[in-house]
Amino acid sequence: MPERQGLRIGFDVGGTKIAICVLDAAGNYAFKTETATPRDSYPGFLETALSLLKAAREAVPEAATASIGVGIPGEIDVVSNTVKNANSTCLIGNNLEADLTRIFGQPVRLANDAQCLIASEVHDGAAQGATVAFGVILGTGVGGGVAVNGEPWRGNNRLAGEWGHNPFPDRDGEVTGSPCYCGRNNCIETVLSGPALVAAYNDATTGEHAQLPEIEIMVAQGDPVARAVLSEYIDRLGLALATVVGVLDPEVIVIGGGVSSIQSLYRELPDRVAAHMFHSSPTKPRFATSIVKSKWGPDSGVRGAARLWPLPRGA
Ligand SMILES: [Zn+2]
Repeated sequence: MPERQGLRIGFDVGGTKIAICVLDAAGNYAFKTETATPRDSYPGFLETALSLLKAAREAVPEAATASIGVGIPGEIDVVSNTVKNANSTCLIGNNLEADLTRIFGQPVRLANDAQCLIASEVHDGAAQGATVAFGVILGTGVGGGVAVNGEPWRGNNRLAGEWGHNPFPDRDGEVTGSPCYCGRNNCIETVLSGPALVAAYNDATTGEHAQLPEIEIMVAQGDPVARAVLSEYIDRLGLALATVVGVLDPEVIVIGGGVSSIQSLYRELPDRVAAHMFHSSPTKPRFATSIVKSKWGPDSGVRGAARLWPLPRGA
């Protein structure tokens, strides 16, 4: 077998499982597995991560010196370098990057799920070839990530793309978000998360308890209430994305997370972004950015983590 080139290792740490993969230069899995996330013990978590790495290196000996990236369900505090807001609570308050670097014996890069999404999609997914791309996760939370020239761009404060906790750009004062877990009010996340869409539908139907997949089916079947709620959601998403266009003006916006499976999003959203953009004409919107669904779906986490480091020259 020819020697495999350009191998990279990615971890995706979720609330219930940790996945690891070894990706080759062509984007194929040389190794991939997952195991349950130890929930209560930080030393137990580190031990599990190390045993996954050993298994990967045993299965693919050429990956012994491969770069390692780790996607986490949370944020890194820019002052203390510790994990915050993670749904794997045992990680919170720990300097995970330093601890993994120590036990793995090589530098490790950490990023959140939206940063991993765009790192994956710009490399060999829905934003491949884009000079500037913005990735959005519309799921339990709302996050964003930026890629420039085919590589993820973390920014000087590691906050590039961290759009979900900007205030919702409520020009007319009509939209009220809820208090956000981050301690502020009216974050974009509280208006545009999957749970916010579900709550808007259930409020409109006074007392139904539909979940996202059921609402998606009702939209596809032409249910008037579901369509009206989704239409308002898409308009608000368009307004929030128009602020991204006003700063970054990307070539491609990639959408991932639970809401990304709603197909009408991709038909209706471009016009709604255009309607809220500066210099757009209300009668003739012109919008030159592609808005596309994530190619890799849930695998974007582990694939994007593997893409957090640029390839060494010549690999
Ligand atoms: Zn917030």
